[in-house]
Amino acid sequence: MIRKHNFSAGPAAIPGQVLEKAQAELLDWNQQGLSIMEMSHRSKEFVGVARKAESDFRTLLDIPNNYKVLFLQGGATSQFGMIPLNLAAAGQKSAYIETGMWSSKAIVEARRYSKVQVVASSSHRDYLSVPAQSEINLEADVAYLHYASNETVGGLSFDYVPQTGNVPLVVDMSSDILSKRIDVSQFGMIYAGAQKNIGPAGLTVAIIREDLLGSAQSITPKMYDYQVHAQAESMSNTPPTFAWYLSGLVFEWLLQQGGVEAIEKVNLRKAQKLYQIIDGSGFYYNKIVTANRSIMNVPFNIVDSVLEAKFLQLSTEAGLLNLKGHKAAGGMRASIYNAVSEDSVDALVSFMQDFEHRYG
Ligand SMILES: *Cc1c(COP(=O)(O)O)cnc(C)c1O
Repeated sequence: MIRKHNFSAGPAAIPGQVLEKAQAELLDWNQQGLSIMEMSHRSKEFVGVARKAESDFRTLLDIPNNYKVLFLQGGATSQFGMIPLNLAAAGQKSAYIETGMWSSKAIVEARRYSKVQVVASSSHRDYLSVPAQSEINLEADVAYLHYASNETVGGLSFDYVPQTGNVPLVVDMSSDILSKRIDVSQFGMIYAGAQKNIGPAGLTVAIIREDLLGSAQSITPKMYDYQVHAQAESMSNTPPTFAWYLSGLVFEWLLQQGGVEAIEKVNLRKAQKLYQIIDGSGFYYNKIVTANRSIMNVPFNIVDSVLEAKFLQLSTEAGLLNLKGHKAAGGMRASIYNAVSEDSVDALVSFMQDFEHRYG
């Protein structure tokens, strides 16, 4: 068996050690004579797995006690609606920063349930840099400020946390959660679909400050009310048990790697290697301003764009998978989440050098 190098943006790479452990206990979990997938979510065995996953996740991000961690379904996209429904009163203003595809989708959905103000945008600079703090014109009576810390499609990333005074700050961290240290207490709410930097698709994790719970709009479906999930410890209905279990294995793996602080160093090194080869040649390019370049999603193009199809064909043949850019962006994109090893990045770097040699 050969595991190839996987640069998929999502669902994305999962550590081989995690998959091996899951495989070893797939048919018979912990000598119970059945798979974890076949167990009641209310059994003491599964509840143990679920609580351990939450506790490891809290350790990894040093989550304060006044925050709930919710294990939800519906993807990050469902959060786009759940956030205004839960955090804004009907007709209340909400504030958004627009930096690319995902934050734009969040804005469109939020308009259905709140009065959205786009308080800062990167659109007038072609999404090549994020707005500065001084450009964020926040009114004091908005329900919250929402932004995406890492735009997965554009490879555009915030290099600072917006300061909002008393306005709760809500962040979509779908593609950079657990990639670097954060101070959770700066946020009212953090959320992320699991399939980028956590585990399998089907699970969405939300970290919410407790004082923000319990004031959902009256039209909110019960399953969209954070308070319902918080009170039931994310077991109001059947949660995605296998995704929750597997994410727990990823949290254990990450702790073994030395936690977020250690993986952050590896992530920075991986990204630097790629940006170095992109910038060091007149052959490849990436136009994002240096300070706002993503360390998780590295989009790049070839100056002679005709060569991009050849690049994608040959890289796939060489075992470097899923390097095609998002359909809205074109070109190439290497997603180098926590589970993508430095070896995989080295293999890509040497492929890029060879390709430039042959076609440059
Ligand atoms: C992938 C992604 C989403 C959408 O996630 P789904 O789980 O597919 O709904 C939202 N925001 C960001 C930043 C993403 O990368």
